[in-house]
Amino acid sequence: MRQKTKLIHGGKGIDQATGAVNQAIQLSSTFKQTQIGTFHYEYGRTGNPTREALEQLLADIEEGDHGFAFASGMAAITAVMKLFSPGDHIIITDDVYGGTYRFFTQFLEKETISITFVDTSDVTAVEEAIRKETKAVFIETPTNPLLKITDLSKIGQVANEHDLLFIIDNTFATPYFQNPLRYGADLVIHSATKYLGGHSDVIAGAVVVKEDTLAAKLAYIQNATGAVLGPHDAYLLMRGIKTLGVRMEEIETNTRQLVKFLQRHPNVDEIYYPGLVNHPGHATHALQSRGFGGIVSFTTTSNELALQTVERTRYFTLAESLGAVESLISIPAKMTHASIPKERRQELGIKDSLIRLSIGLEDVEDLAEDLEIALTE
Ligand SMILES: *Cc1c(COP(=O)(O)O)cnc(C)c1O
Repeated sequence: MRQKTKLIHGGKGIDQATGAVNQAIQLSSTFKQTQIGTFHYEYGRTGNPTREALEQLLADIEEGDHGFAFASGMAAITAVMKLFSPGDHIIITDDVYGGTYRFFTQFLEKETISITFVDTSDVTAVEEAIRKETKAVFIETPTNPLLKITDLSKIGQVANEHDLLFIIDNTFATPYFQNPLRYGADLVIHSATKYLGGHSDVIAGAVVVKEDTLAAKLAYIQNATGAVLGPHDAYLLMRGIKTLGVRMEEIETNTRQLVKFLQRHPNVDEIYYPGLVNHPGHATHALQSRGFGGIVSFTTTSNELALQTVERTRYFTLAESLGAVESLISIPAKMTHASIPKERRQELGIKDSLIRLSIGLEDVEDLAEDLEIALTE
């Protein structure tokens, strides 16, 4: 099955019992046992048919064998971190999503799981950070908000040589453009709130794995910790995933045109987009991914202009989040990345004048005009 077909016909496909082309929303929290211990579903936290249909679809589109749906991307990340024990050490991409940074620094370290933030686009730096207690490497590529690129094959090799779990948050690239399990990743995580849902109407998270023993551990954690996705939200995600392909193609077309517009604009300084040939990760990303996506960040000539821009746009909504049909605009330093200390943000290059755009599906001419007006001093 090819990409777009799989988004529509993957997972369980048509409902066998009724012929319905959509999966039913099964609200039952408990299920009859014909004898004690004889059942298909037992209790809604442990298993639910709607969630299960979504989980099979997630596994298919990410080229894995087992999918797990959680109440949010952070719930998915939290569950994955339950695989580790006190004393373990994890290497993590230095400019990860702000919520991930907060979780790792505020909660993991308390559980005496130590972490080292590394620029994972530098494979040597990753190798140098490995200790005897190191159990995993957790990456994002492209990263948020600077779109840094990590080489999946190289990290896969390093992880394999040192017996580390290779975990990737694949939210930005989406399974339509990038399938990290091909390159040696063990666990792929998504904030399904973003492109998978695609319509800003559901908070959800996903994990996909290939390996059966890892899947059994995750199933145990999912049930034991309980942050499962509800059936209504599972349905919404399946609905969103059907159009992921067309959305990503169109979003990328819009993004390429807007990047050209930004390149010509006198009040725009640096542009961060992996589709640009002068982006340091361009070639690596082009090898491991089928598209450059719809997130672009840029700095303006002053902090004031950045503030003015995000407050002035009409079609770009000033809001957190990304990956939906409507275009969004934000200042990461003041919003998504505000939980990262200022000095740390400066080290990473997340300036106060940095604007992040999540390009949607509006007419690109309207989006360009919108930015043109907002960026005029
Ligand atoms: C939004 C996001 C998360 C967190 O997901 P939620 O669904 O908001 O909990 C994690 N990683 C990345 C890259 C994100 O963009």
